[in-house]
Amino acid sequence: MTAALVNVFALSFIAAMLAAVMLIAWRSFGKPRYAMIWAFAFAVATLEWASNLFIRFFAGDDPLLFSLIVGLCCLSNALIAIGFVQRARAQTSMTPLLIAAFAAAGLITTIVFFFPQRDLRDAVWLYFAGTMLVIGAGSVTRSLRKAPLPERATVAMLVLFAVVDFGLGTLALGQGSSGEGEGYLLFRTLLVLLYPLAFIGVGLFAVFLVAADLAEKMRLLATSDELTGIYNRRGFEESAERAIRNAQRQRQPLALVIADIDSFKTVNDRHGHSTGDRALKHFASRIERMVRRGDLIGRIGGEEFALLLINSRAQDALEVVERIRRDIAAMPVEGRAQIVMTASFGVTGLRPGGISLATLLARADRALYRSKLDGRDRVTSAEDLDERI
Ligand code: GH3
Ligand code: MG
Ligand code: MG
Repeated sequence: MTAALVNVFALSFIAAMLAAVMLIAWRSFGKPRYAMIWAFAFAVATLEWASNLFIRFFAGDDPLLFSLIVGLCCLSNALIAIGFVQRARAQTSMTPLLIAAFAAAGLITTIVFFFPQRDLRDAVWLYFAGTMLVIGAGSVTRSLRKAPLPERATVAMLVLFAVVDFGLGTLALGQGSSGEGEGYLLFRTLLVLLYPLAFIGVGLFAVFLVAADLAEKMRLLATSDELTGIYNRRGFEESAERAIRNAQRQRQPLALVIADIDSFKTVNDRHGHSTGDRALKHFASRIERMVRRGDLIGRIGGEEFALLLINSRAQDALEVVERIRRDIAAMPVEGRAQIVMTASFGVTGLRPGGISLATLLARADRALYRSKLDGRDRVTSAEDLDERI
């Protein structure tokens, strides 16, 4: 057995395993469509490598089989690119892209069949594969700077593999139309050495991305509130601690607000628990609408919410919260019952020097308690309370 044969044999199995892993990932992790497309892509690649093995054993240099293998290779690369596009934009219809992939693979198969020169054939499929990897890399993330590490690493690797494909494609042109050129040996050696690495690398990073996406999904589940979609207590605390550290480092002001819906028990008692749930959603969405992007909102208890206003002085925060208080009291919850709610608020600002989230929460909570004592439907500042004492 030659080294090339061993290579192709191993690659058939690796491709089959990648297809199986993607299929299992698709079934087990909420059926993301891109995992299914990648399963399909690696199934096609398995067929490609198996045909490659077959041709080496039994068929010699059969031109039809050879062009079919090139077609399968192009199809599997196009499907990998479509998987990346699908991952980035889950709503896009896949049909036109799939038709384009099959048409491109069919066209390349035909060209290679009628023009079986080695240099042309190898350059075409390698350039095509490289182009598909570039399309894939371009779809991984919208902003490379803001992307998480797994996405950035995947883009880097895809670009590297695309460079390998383009480099090999260029070398392929130097091998002569029937492998008689000076560059033949160099091209073959580098192809056997580098192409399998690029193929396996793409597969590994696709699997890695599926795992990273799953981890991100779990993280979101663990940190967000199912009913309202905003942060839960844990998510709020994690993000708020990070924001407080940033604000201290950059010497920017911050304000923490705790809001508690007034007499919420009566809403539940009068209208039922599901109307109560609707009222909670309404409350969260009203607040979301009235704060800046980047501010943090969490549901930290049953009908208790926390807000972290970034780069906002306590005095400005008081104005924002007063506006929120008036908005809540003025906007009834949609539905037949037209429930009008009020809420009480406690506000505190980040002061120079270290102060922990726990201290801020305790200060805002004390101010909130004062709002309740003073008759509800009002805003109290912890700093004003300090002065009063
Ligand atoms: P106060 O003005 O003193 O805050 O009165 P309150 O009735 O709002 O205060 P209390 O803390 O006694 O009651 C909170 C109520 O919130 C009790 C509970 O039934 C309700 N609640 C907590 N979580 C949920 C939820 O997820 N859905 C619904 N519908 N109600 C909830
Ligand atoms: Mg309450
Ligand atoms: Mg409460």
